[in-house]
Amino acid sequence: MPHGVLAEMTAKTAAKSASAPAGAAKVSDYYGCNVFGLETMKLLLPKETFRKVQEAVDAGTRLDPESANAVASAMKTWAIQKGATHYCHWFQPLTGATAEKHDAFIDPTGTGGVVESFTGQMLAQAEPDASSFPSGGLRATFEARGYTAWDPTSPAFILETAGGSTLCVPTCFISYTGHALDTKTPLLRSIEALNKAALGILKYFDGDARKVFSTLGAEQEYFLVDAEYYKARPDLLLAGRTLFGAPSPKGQQLEDHYFGSIKDRVFAFMTDFEAEAYKLGIPLKTRHNEVAPHQFECAPVFEEANVAVDHNQLVMDVMRRVAARHGLAALLYEKPFAGVNGSGKHNNWSLGTDTGKNLLSPGATPQENLQFLIVLVSVIKAVHDHGLLLRASIASSGNDHRLGANEAPPAIMSVFLGEQLTNVLNDLEKGVTTKQLDPMWIPFGIDKIPPVLKDNTDRNRTSPFAFTGNKFEFRAVGASFNNAIPVTTLNTIVAGSLIETKRQIDAAMAGGKPFKEAATEVLRKLYKQSKSVCFEGNNYSEEWVKEAKRRGLPNEKTTPAALKGFALKSSVEIFAGLGVLTEEESRSRHHILLEKYAKDIDIEAKLVAEMTTTLFVPAAVDYQGRLAGALAAQKAAGAKSPSTAALLKRVAARVEAALKGAAALEAERAAAEAIEDAEKRAFAYCEKVKPHFSRIRAEVDALELEMPSAEWPVPKYREMLFLM
Ligand code: ADP
Ligand code: MG
Repeated sequence: MPHGVLAEMTAKTAAKSASAPAGAAKVSDYYGCNVFGLETMKLLLPKETFRKVQEAVDAGTRLDPESANAVASAMKTWAIQKGATHYCHWFQPLTGATAEKHDAFIDPTGTGGVVESFTGQMLAQAEPDASSFPSGGLRATFEARGYTAWDPTSPAFILETAGGSTLCVPTCFISYTGHALDTKTPLLRSIEALNKAALGILKYFDGDARKVFSTLGAEQEYFLVDAEYYKARPDLLLAGRTLFGAPSPKGQQLEDHYFGSIKDRVFAFMTDFEAEAYKLGIPLKTRHNEVAPHQFECAPVFEEANVAVDHNQLVMDVMRRVAARHGLAALLYEKPFAGVNGSGKHNNWSLGTDTGKNLLSPGATPQENLQFLIVLVSVIKAVHDHGLLLRASIASSGNDHRLGANEAPPAIMSVFLGEQLTNVLNDLEKGVTTKQLDPMWIPFGIDKIPPVLKDNTDRNRTSPFAFTGNKFEFRAVGASFNNAIPVTTLNTIVAGSLIETKRQIDAAMAGGKPFKEAATEVLRKLYKQSKSVCFEGNNYSEEWVKEAKRRGLPNEKTTPAALKGFALKSSVEIFAGLGVLTEEESRSRHHILLEKYAKDIDIEAKLVAEMTTTLFVPAAVDYQGRLAGALAAQKAAGAKSPSTAALLKRVAARVEAALKGAAALEAERAAAEAIEDAEKRAFAYCEKVKPHFSRIRAEVDALELEMPSAEWPVPKYREMLFLM
């Protein structure tokens, strides 16, 4: 397919210069140059105003109107100097994407001219029409008002695009009735809940921490394909994934892509993309080839979770834009290609303090580090008690293709701790003191190379939630996700768990036990109650699925079933109890995600039917005609070929089956669409509509393998995954 594209591609390969500003010799010369962060504010704001901003950021309080005016004025001057003509409140509605409504700085003078204006009020609050965003019933259509409110804890930034520059102010998005219509509002609430809960634990220990926050380092996987191929595939373009495609003879079986040398064209994209990210103050650190062909990963240095979530949203946005500049398409869908690995987003999550401590850092002797053990056991308990909710927080039609497909952790939420910590906790449970752990050294067996110090934990790449030394890696998150949802969930369930741990310790102490004894006793009990969620083995194995079932751990493989996690009484209660989501907000989220699922599958269903009838069948029917002609010619020449006759029969049969399949699919889709109830509708799409896809695909993929390559109407896997 698209012949001639190759030549064009080679021309495009000529590396474009990276987007670093002219004159910058190194990254530190321009890092964060498009961010109105604390450093910039310190330079541009009066001392007193700066102090107030810092205070407001620290305490999460509102800035007084006068200071807000001063900040807005400095921001405007700074942004205009950088070429911005417009500003926008940048927010994250429940679509999973980001939203922006641009307003020009201009304000008519009344005498025919304009002045640039941007006030504290414009910075602090705006009122975009909310009626076209999902609200899950939170907002009646007649009450369309929605408000965006400045989040001073995430810095404003300038988004530079080919068309111009825009000042973006990160904001929360709420309805007229005060309900959260976005992902940031609950995230901020969960950060505050976690802060309070963790500070409660820290009170037992001497320390001067005044604040605890969650940290997040989001590793982002993605695919790159040539944009010409992307545009020629309606399924990639509209659904983000290929709904058809025979496997390429070579896929990932040679294991030669992971960490392989990076192709020039990809390298040019990466450096350009990184430069754009650096301008936005996103600390991208790592880049490498991933397992599947044309699959890659980038990872930033971790940051405070709210900023890290915003940055990850920006990473995805900037990645798509920069890819387009390079004639490429960045695919963030969880499973764009069947038969090769899909893409995830590994959420490295931990708890940090304003004094620079990591509460999940075990230290040299974890058995003595009671504070660490309290946090650790509380996290385990949280995952144990809210496994289905955690699963719900990463549920989507895209992620359903990954979880449990032998490339990503299964849909069973379990915790990996590593041998050392497992021993420590088992000893704690038994009431014995773990003997001093030797630092473990791995010798290379070669004199000249010194041994390396083993990490506290081995890696378990198959666990959905693995302890990795001083943080947990939530590996089951899908590549296209807004991280706010899983992080909010984690923060909330851990906050709830920390509060419960403290309650029990306090109760034991009230009974006269000294702290250490009380805490040890409570931890022993909590670990015993929740250790069934701990699993050290191969999470991809069939045995684990059986074992998990025996242990009573939920294993919901499909989104509609997993989303029930949001509706559980325990979920609604913990969100409401900690002030993260009201009962109504929880219900609305469940509803929105069910609808999103149904709509995703609906789009795919229409694509499967349309591509079958308008692309593949016409090509195959043409081919049938030619085969029939060839058969007649063979007969006339007295050289009948039974194989050609058999081929024609097979093609005819597949065309027939594909057309029938498309008709059956469309009937089933229409029936599902007509179902009133959102949950029933989602289940119908999942159980009745989706199964048609693979049946039709089998016919079409078989046709692809029997028809002339040059006549196949869309780019093939072997082209998309290997030509660049
Ligand atoms: P991996 O070997 O798992 O692929 P990477 O180096 O790609 O590891 O990514 C690890 C991620 O974990 C990085 O984003 C890193 O900044 C992050 N990380 C490290 N420490 C913490 C922490 N305390 N809290 C959150 N994230 C962390
Ligand atoms: Mg990595």
